[in-house]
Amino acid sequence: MGKTTKKRRGPHPTAKAELDVPVRVGQTVEVEITGLNHEGAGVGRIEGYTLFVSGALAQERVRARVEHVKKNFGFAKMVEVVEASTYRALPPCPLYDRCGGCSLQHLDYAEQLRHKQQIVRDNLRRIGGFQVEGEGAITVHPTLGMSDPWRYRNKAQVPIGEENGALVGGFYAEKSHSIIDMEACMIQHQANDEAVAVVKKLASELQIRAYDEQRHTGLLRHVVVKVGVKTGEVMVVLVTTEEEIPQRERLVEAIRGQVSGVTSIVQNVNPERTNVIFGKKTVTLWGSDVIYDYIGPIKFAISARSFYQVNPAQTEVLYNKTLEYAGATGTETVIDAYCGIGTISLFLAQKSRHVYGVEIVPEAIADANRNAELNGVENVTFEAGPAEVVIPAWKEKGIRADVIVVDPPRKGCDEALLATILEMQPERVVYVSCNPSTLARDLKVLAERYEVKEVQPVDMFPHTGHVESVALLVYKGF
Ligand code: SAH
Repeated sequence: MGKTTKKRRGPHPTAKAELDVPVRVGQTVEVEITGLNHEGAGVGRIEGYTLFVSGALAQERVRARVEHVKKNFGFAKMVEVVEASTYRALPPCPLYDRCGGCSLQHLDYAEQLRHKQQIVRDNLRRIGGFQVEGEGAITVHPTLGMSDPWRYRNKAQVPIGEENGALVGGFYAEKSHSIIDMEACMIQHQANDEAVAVVKKLASELQIRAYDEQRHTGLLRHVVVKVGVKTGEVMVVLVTTEEEIPQRERLVEAIRGQVSGVTSIVQNVNPERTNVIFGKKTVTLWGSDVIYDYIGPIKFAISARSFYQVNPAQTEVLYNKTLEYAGATGTETVIDAYCGIGTISLFLAQKSRHVYGVEIVPEAIADANRNAELNGVENVTFEAGPAEVVIPAWKEKGIRADVIVVDPPRKGCDEALLATILEMQPERVVYVSCNPSTLARDLKVLAERYEVKEVQPVDMFPHTGHVESVALLVYKGF
């Protein structure tokens, strides 16, 4: 692009030279950390200017290098701890500093749980305007954590590359396309680590080439492994650029022989220049095209492409809490909005007269129907479409709900859906949230006619900054 295409003539209003801030990029500063933000970065202040310091903890004094400066806040990376927090922990993962997967391994686990409870409280207060302390305050319970918060993930998605003629697989180095090899991931189920290692070794031996993102050459793009934690069944998915795999039979044979628990070997073909993992075509190379797992008493079929919660143990904790908050006794009509593959719906169906589930992805609804059938559950109806359109249509048809459960994506509920809930006036609303800020925003809207009784944070993703919680709202009228 030549100079003539440049649109902006004068200096950018936030050009670095004009920023009147007390730090500059590249400078090393010593700073007192007073808290942690929602991404797990330490929060400090230099002459009133907010600096987010990754790797630093509350109640620490650290030296940090400024990396990015904006008008109201900046980002820095910790260089050295000057005074350490008593909650500082030694990260067990040797790749912790380089991998972007975890952000809280350096914080004691019990403290991680307190931090997540505090994040929920702060959001409810700041964004929702709710009282979180003293008389009349909303109860935000201590976060429900894991007794063993390691090796909890049931799905590994590993990009494959090459190094010195052998295949490597792990994660992308920060801000680059080069792949760092990883033998073990501390939050990944052991079976997944083992399966990935075996596939890397076998494919190297058979001289299968890794996909090269820059040149768009090579064959093996990703190895995806899923494990049914309750059943021990393992699915290996080979994501390739083309359908033809040299020595395919030998590879499949060897995977069958060397990956313990494998019941399904699947190939997905993705010929596109894209960083989206899966392509359109999926072929079963050996065994079943699904593996099975249980959450509580409910059985789920998991295909290569279908969505499934990645921490099944904590999912059960979350869903039990959702069921408890729904207060269903067997006579209620329940709506499950944003139902995915019907997990919460099937859980709720055990204690309700009828459950209506709605979800925008049609494939997920197909899975939901299959899962209902698999469990012999007949008191559920699933519909594909936007919740904010389908639920008003149900209302028009005369469907009344005693309980509405919502479990929206990070951006929270659509305003039209919140308006519909206020009109439908179910006795209870149970809000399952993966983002405390949109939870707080939406609860503020619902508070017009609902009392927020209690909020329970559940740690679905130990050692990461993610905060999941479930809130109980009870109708109070006008
Ligand atoms: N309740 C499910 C899935 C929750 S994830 C579970 O526990 O497994 C949120 C889901 O909302 C995703 O499946 C996403 O596809 C869906 N979604 C996103 N926008 C939607 C909308 N406007 N209407 C209905 N579903 C939507």
